[in-house]
Amino acid sequence: MGWKTLDDMDLNGKRVLVRVDINVPLVDGVVTDSTRIRRIAPTVRDIIAAGGFPILLAHFGRPGGERRENLSLNQLVPTLERAFETKVHFAADCVGAGAKEAAETLQPGEVLLLENTRFHAAETKNDPELAAGMAALGDVYCNDAFSAAHRAHSSTEALARLLPACAGRLMQAELEALEAALGAPERPVTAVVGGAKVSTKLELLGNLIEKVDYLVIGGGMANTFLVAQGKNVGVSLAERIMKDTAAEILAKADSTGCKIILPSDIVVAKKFEAHTEHEVLSTENCPEDGMILDAGPASVEQIISIFEESKTLIWNGPLGAFELEPFDAATNAAALKAAALTRAGLLTSVAGGGDTVAALNASGAAGDFTYISTAGGAFLEWMEGKTLPGVAALEQA
Ligand code: AMP
Repeated sequence: MGWKTLDDMDLNGKRVLVRVDINVPLVDGVVTDSTRIRRIAPTVRDIIAAGGFPILLAHFGRPGGERRENLSLNQLVPTLERAFETKVHFAADCVGAGAKEAAETLQPGEVLLLENTRFHAAETKNDPELAAGMAALGDVYCNDAFSAAHRAHSSTEALARLLPACAGRLMQAELEALEAALGAPERPVTAVVGGAKVSTKLELLGNLIEKVDYLVIGGGMANTFLVAQGKNVGVSLAERIMKDTAAEILAKADSTGCKIILPSDIVVAKKFEAHTEHEVLSTENCPEDGMILDAGPASVEQIISIFEESKTLIWNGPLGAFELEPFDAATNAAALKAAALTRAGLLTSVAGGGDTVAALNASGAAGDFTYISTAGGAFLEWMEGKTLPGVAALEQA
């Protein structure tokens, strides 16, 4: 880990530019879920405790380089004040004289929020001049937005190169968890990859078969692999056009020593609907009009026994159509087992990306996982083995 944390920096009397992700849902100007705001509170609190002055930089929505009142961060001030339990000032631009004055007059214990960085078209172009304008407002840069770290933007990349830079608490927790899971993990390592399509997770599968000992494939994408094995999947969701790619992945896994686990039994229905009539069948016996909606109990048993053997688990994507009861059964049973093993200190479990958080929350297992990443795109790119520009910039700073 070549990056610094807040503990490595001298923050006393320093203006700290903190890049955060506070892209919270807003309905009629009211924040309906403040999770992202609450998660950055430790960083703000620790900077204040060390005698620093937190100045928050963030994007909000996609204003496309134009000032749009409905995407002004001003609307978040009351929620930020409640989360930080202190006064939050607001500057109507993230660079320039007004922002500079607000930064210089900030009082100890208070916070300054700068306007949406994406009101400047230059932000998403990683423009160095815009970054220099931001750098002029502070003494130290702190990136606490892992979920924006897969993008090289002025506030996430260029700025990190202009000031002494470190990771905030949330970024630190995320990077430590990810490093433990794929960087130098305790073996055996198991990955679970589920969800709808192979085509959206090709790079992910390619990276994982080189790094993990077991790769459990579930969900709609498992159907494509069953097709590649010459099995009938009826009217199930499957990308038949990807069947050769799936076959290549199976062959490559053989050569890297990664064991791929596909369902051995399946839960089959006639339509995509909750509580619709269904039966458990062998993967050899899916009827022409059958729709595979979940992995069967024998598959779950096998997955659970692999979890018991594993020391590290990394999970993206549900094992079935988890939004429809009872086709959430395999996802729930496997998730609860991973949670129990984690609780017992036998497994390090990291999960994230898209629907995974919703699926694990619904199963009631999320609270016991070692780490659940709420960063969608950044988590997936990291799982794909890519270097995230925002993290690389911190490492070089
Ligand atoms: P993803 O966004 O790729 O992680 O895919 C998640 C979606 O895949 C969820 O909406 C699931 O309902 C869906 N899914 C998982 N398994 C199946 C399946 N066997 N048939 C249809 N959809 C599925």
